[in-house]
Amino acid sequence: MHSVRELLSLFAMNPSAESHSIPLSDGNRIPLLGLGTYGDPRTTPKGTALECVKLAIDVGYRHFDGALVYFNEHEVGQAIREKIADGSVRRQDIFYCGKLWNTFHSPELVRPALERTLEALKLDYLDLYIVELPIAFKPGNDFYPKDGDGNYIYHHTDLCATWEALEACKDAGLVKSLGVSNFNRRQLELLLNKPGLRHKPVSNQVECHPYFTQPKLLEFCRQHNIVIVGYCPLGSSRDASWVNVKCPPLLEDELLVSIGKKYNKSSAQVALRFNVQRGVVVIPKSFSPERIKHNFHK
Ligand code: NAP
Repeated sequence: MHSVRELLSLFAMNPSAESHSIPLSDGNRIPLLGLGTYGDPRTTPKGTALECVKLAIDVGYRHFDGALVYFNEHEVGQAIREKIADGSVRRQDIFYCGKLWNTFHSPELVRPALERTLEALKLDYLDLYIVELPIAFKPGNDFYPKDGDGNYIYHHTDLCATWEALEACKDAGLVKSLGVSNFNRRQLELLLNKPGLRHKPVSNQVECHPYFTQPKLLEFCRQHNIVIVGYCPLGSSRDASWVNVKCPPLLEDELLVSIGKKYNKSSAQVALRFNVQRGVVVIPKSFSPERIKHNFHK
C-alpha cells in the first residue's frame, strides 16, 4: 500500500495512467481515478457516454466504471475502441470495470453475463469484474423482477458458488481481476474464508465520500489487501428514486468549500482528493465536458 506522501507525489509528478495507479493483490494495477458512467437511461441522450468517454481519454482518464444495467456499455466500448483505433491509447492502457448483476448469480449464468458485457463493449477481456451487490434476484429477462405487490423477487444462491464461477472466468482469460461491491465485512469474510479459494477479491466498491467515510470497512480491507473503490465520491447525483434529497448536498458543505478556497480548488476536487489521499480509488461520474476535465485535475 502507498503512503499518503507517495500518493501525493505520484499525482504531483504526472497524472498519467501508469503513475496514478496502485497495485492490486493479484499483481495487476488500478488507476486511482476513474470515470463513473452511470447516467439515467431515461434522461440521458443517446451518444452521451460515447462522447464523454472519448473526451475523458483525451483528458487522461484511463479507468472506466460501467455495468450491464447502465444500458450504455456499447457506447463506452465504442469510445474505447475508437480511441485505440486512432492511436491515442492501447488496450492495455485502459482499465474497464464491469459488474455482475443480481439476476445472474446462479453459477451457470455468470459466464454468459460476463460475455454479454464483452459483446456490448466489443472487447476481448475486462480488467475487473465485480459482484455488483451481495443480493440475488430471480433469474430471467427482467433485471428488476417484482411480485404483484411491487416487492423485489429474491433468489436463493450461494455467494461462494457464484465466486467459483467468477474464478473460472478469470482462469479462462475473460477478466484480469475479480472484486465485489456493496459487501460488508461478514460477506467479505465469507469469500476470504471459502475452502479452496483460488482468487481473492482484489477490491470492494462501496459508497465512500466525506459524509460516509467507511473507517471500519477501510481498515478491514487494508488488512486483507483489498482496495476500496469509492462510488458516489461527490455525494451522488441525488436521484430522488434512491437518495434522500433532504440530506444536505455534500458539495455545499462549508468545510469542503472553505478548504477549497484555501487551496484554490472546488469542493468537488477537495472531496475527491480526500479519498485519493487515503488510498481510496474514486470514480466520479460526469457527462459534462467541463466537469470531466475539472474532476481529473483535483
Ligand atoms: P457522483 O460521482 O458522486 O456524482 C455524480 C453527480 O455529480 C452527477 O450529477 C454529476 O453531474 C455531478 N458532478 C460531477 N462532477 C461535478 C463537479 N465537479 N461539480 C459539481 N457536480 C458534479 O455519483 P454517482 O454517479 O452516483 O457515482 C459515481 C459512479 O459510481 C457511477 O457513475 C457508477 O459508475 C458508480 N456507482 C456504483 C454503484 C454500485 O452499487 N457499485 C452505485 C452507484 C454508483 P454531471 O454529469 O452533470 O456533471
